[in-house]
Amino acid sequence: MRLPRPLLPRLLALVRASLSAKLTLFYSALFAVAMGLILMGANAGISRYAEHMIRSEMTASAKVFDRVAAMRYAQLGDASTVLAADFGFRSAVATDDAPTIGSALESLRSRLNLDQAFFVGVDGAVVGYRGALSTNEADELLAALENGRTRGVLRIGARQFNAAASAVKAPVTIGWVVFGNELDAGEMARLAKLSSIDLAPRIVPAATLTAAQRSGNAIEQDVGGTRMLVQASPIASFRAGEPQMLLLQHSVTRALADYRPMLWLLLGCGIVGVGLAGAGSFLLARRITRPIIALKAAAKLAAKGDYTQVDVTTRDEIGALAASFNRMVDDIGARERQITHMALHDGLTGLANRVLLREYLGNALARDGTNRRQALFYLDLDQFKVVNDTLGHPTGDALLCDTARRLTDFAGDGFVARLGGDEFALVLFEDHRTFDRMAHELIRVVAEPCIVNGHRIVPGTSVGIAILGDDGSDPVMLARNADLALYRAKHDGRGGYRFFEAAMDAEARKRRQMELDLHDAIAEGQLSLMFQPLFDLAETRVSAFEALLRWNHPTRGLVSPVDFIPLAEDTGLIVPIGEWVIREACRTARNWPDDVRIAVNVSPVQFRNPGLSTVILQALSESGLPPQRLELEITESLFIDNPEATLASLHSLRALGVRVALDDFGTGYSSLSYLRAFPFDKIKIDRSFIIDLLNGGGSATAIIKSITTLAEALGMETTAEGVENSDQLDILREQGCSHIQGYYFSKPISNTEVHRMLHTSQDDFTRLRA
Ligand code: C2E
Ligand code: MG
Ligand code: MG
Repeated sequence: MRLPRPLLPRLLALVRASLSAKLTLFYSALFAVAMGLILMGANAGISRYAEHMIRSEMTASAKVFDRVAAMRYAQLGDASTVLAADFGFRSAVATDDAPTIGSALESLRSRLNLDQAFFVGVDGAVVGYRGALSTNEADELLAALENGRTRGVLRIGARQFNAAASAVKAPVTIGWVVFGNELDAGEMARLAKLSSIDLAPRIVPAATLTAAQRSGNAIEQDVGGTRMLVQASPIASFRAGEPQMLLLQHSVTRALADYRPMLWLLLGCGIVGVGLAGAGSFLLARRITRPIIALKAAAKLAAKGDYTQVDVTTRDEIGALAASFNRMVDDIGARERQITHMALHDGLTGLANRVLLREYLGNALARDGTNRRQALFYLDLDQFKVVNDTLGHPTGDALLCDTARRLTDFAGDGFVARLGGDEFALVLFEDHRTFDRMAHELIRVVAEPCIVNGHRIVPGTSVGIAILGDDGSDPVMLARNADLALYRAKHDGRGGYRFFEAAMDAEARKRRQMELDLHDAIAEGQLSLMFQPLFDLAETRVSAFEALLRWNHPTRGLVSPVDFIPLAEDTGLIVPIGEWVIREACRTARNWPDDVRIAVNVSPVQFRNPGLSTVILQALSESGLPPQRLELEITESLFIDNPEATLASLHSLRALGVRVALDDFGTGYSSLSYLRAFPFDKIKIDRSFIIDLLNGGGSATAIIKSITTLAEALGMETTAEGVENSDQLDILREQGCSHIQGYYFSKPISNTEVHRMLHTSQDDFTRLRA
């Protein structure tokens, strides 16, 4: 059968892709092959059996025919002997009385119901033969009789007889009585009936047979397309020169035809069997593959992240496989949930992280229809670094966890995230409270004193707020704006909050631009130093100059250090800038008189940088400036974060031989204890106290008095900053201040002016004298 073209490849593809199709095909083919072998075996067996049966039947039949012939010859012989011995008959023969001979033969023939009963005389005369007998035939018969042949097949013309002869003696042989029965079709049919199968017996002259046929064995012959088994066996013959044989034959093809229905039946059973085997193996394969298909489908789903279980409850290997698959799917699901959780949450506090916050904001912004406003609050802990450095990281971590808990309680149905370090974010819905009110409460909640790891901590926070939608339509913009607001809040002083304003954005841009410009400033030589003199009141002379940094911006002109130093500190640029200042200051001061020092401001960021002492050493050795002519100005803020480390660094700097001054004393976290902890060479009293001298009710005067008293006791000099008039100078001198710095004496000046000032006569300082 030829299948339509597209069907065959589809069928092949199906077999290749389907296990049940494969199994079905395999078992059907196996069964068909087995069936085919059985059929072939049966066919060969039947063929051999039939042949064997025919052969043995032929052998048996040949023997039966032989016996029957012998019996017939005996009967004929007996009868002929009786007649030959009869006296009357012998007399008739002796006297040649033909009528008597004829009637005797005839009466006996009819009595015994014979076909032939005749007499052959020694002279060859034949009496009583029924039919035509030629002289030649009579002579041949006589010759056979004379040779003693008295039994056998006698062939006369086309006729043949079973014949027996007896000699008539008087006392010599005078003739023979021959009795015979014709071997005609009727006789042959009677003989044929003696065997169970039709052997078509025929008596043929041996000369008409082939040598193989004459061998006596049954041989196979192809006769007109049918397979025949042929067997010839010799039989007694009257005539010596013409032996006769009994030929038996039977068609094997015909014999096999009898078995054909059986083979057809077998074939039919085989086909039904193949069909049943196919159907059975298909059902079995389906049973086997159904759970496998279910597993495959489940695996496909699992690949897509859908971890559904397979419902396979069999107790066999596939059931076990399904059970382990289900366990595996469970494990993968759990692990994935864990990984997802880890990817979206902070490990320490368990709060959402920055990624999840962004996602939350994205969803919140995308959701419309809510009329409740939402705001993003950014906050960080004031002084968290101090807690970490002074009380250790475990305490710092505990404080973060405590804060996370407070924020979660505070947020209610809002969202809380930790952004890293000490930074947190909240997304809150506006309720009966305004965002202002919430910010207030948030600061209060975070700032509540707590006991962490046995330490009492009063955390503080600043908050920056951006409103969803108003202050940003995407999470990134919102986060940046909340951060800007937080930056501003911190800038305004700790513990406050600020809403984002568009101006902050502009300011941030400006800051960013300035940051970029500051990078170029060092390389392009836009930085320079101005020097402001410090006047020694007792000696009435300039004892030192403070180096003050100036930035000559190409478009903005002169930028104040107040504006760019914090930026340089935030970005870390203060380190290379500060290095430049120290080198430049040392190089410049080298050309000043030996008793004039140079003071350089050192930022806290610069101070904490481990390379500072190397930079100072290099600057000193390059310029050749003696260390005691260099004065470093540091601020009190250094002591807040890590007082021990600060002290250690100060001592190692002092070991270089440089002087150390405490700048802006009295602002921020002033503590007189620092003064005892480290022997500063100089204290610089902050300008704010000097301003207060004239408008404050005397408290500033008292403070200055106590500072100068303490400084004197500790062997430190004092310098008043920002002295602008003689009244201030008078009070300061009165309160024991040893040095002054300020516009009243001189504004910051260039190096050229420094030289000019140093060469003026001391008389010019008369207004500064007491
Ligand atoms: P500072 O160290 O306290 O410097 C004194 C500041 O007060 C200078 O401002 C000076 O010009 C100003 N000043 C002096 N006398 C008077 C006065 O009579 N009236 C008024 N109104 N101001 C007076 P400047 O140069 O703007 O520097 C400001 C601050 O910038 C400095 O304060 C210092 O903290 C920082 N700074 C300046 N140069 C450097 C530097 O090279 N490195 C570092 N790290 N900081 C520097
Ligand atoms: Mg200073
Ligand atoms: Mg100062």
